[in-house]
Amino acid sequence: MHELSIAKSIVDSVLASVAERPSAAIASVHLRIGELTDIAADALEFGFSVLSRGTRLEHTTLRIESVPIVTRCNACRQTFTVEDYLFVCPACNSGDLHMLHGDELEIDHVILNEPDHPDTNHPRK
Ligand SMILES: [Zn+2]
Repeated sequence: MHELSIAKSIVDSVLASVAERPSAAIASVHLRIGELTDIAADALEFGFSVLSRGTRLEHTTLRIESVPIVTRCNACRQTFTVEDYLFVCPACNSGDLHMLHGDELEIDHVILNEPDHPDTNHPRK
């Protein structure tokens, strides 16, 4: 499954990015996913929950922000949001479009709980 390999790379890269903060709890991971990517958010969340088991991400919340498709018309320079995958300029009907947003697949940010906060200081067994 496509989403499973994406979830794997997200888990790997978040774990790598927090490797230098071994005592911090990872509260949430925030993703930005463009509508063009054809990624099913629920399948990605499922893959993340499976792959994060037994890792530092086991109790981490995955938050997915959907990024709309935004293009600029090469003919009239109008910038617009594409609705229903209709890739035609609403101003001049040109199909010559330059993609600005919508193909994102990125980790926007990761929220950590630092251990110096008394509520999040859980000694390991
Ligand atoms: Zn146009």
